Amino acid sequence: MDKVLKMCELCGKKITGRSDKKFCDDYCRNQFNNARNLKETLRVKQINTILKKNRKIMSSLLGTEAKQKIPGEKMRLLNYDFNFHTHLHHTRNGKTYYFCYEYGYLLLDNDMVLLVRREP
Ligand SMILES: [Zn+2]
Repeated sequence: MDKVLKMCELCGKKITGRSDKKFCDDYCRNQFNNARNLKETLRVKQINTILKKNRKIMSSLLGTEAKQKIPGEKMRLLNYDFNFHTHLHHTRNGKTYYFCYEYGYLLLDNDMVLLVRREP
């Protein structure tokens, strides 16, 4: 039987016993998993924050209107992050709206943007 020397992924101590073990004990395994979960939670929180900010910007620009044409510059000045959206809406005539929750935009010519609200 092959004996492969394995080290704990957290503390680097030698692992004895079953060969599929990654950690020397429960403490190290829990610490490792907690750290990984925390990292994932933070990443999700960061993206949620961006999405909520984008939504807020569109909400403030649109006001009570159902749709409105505005210069794209207005969104950039408010630091709208065009990399993040919740979903897309493709129209039958081949246009794509980018949505953050119930607010969306369509890119038009000459750096104009059509903002819309779509009740769920
Ligand atoms: Zn360990």
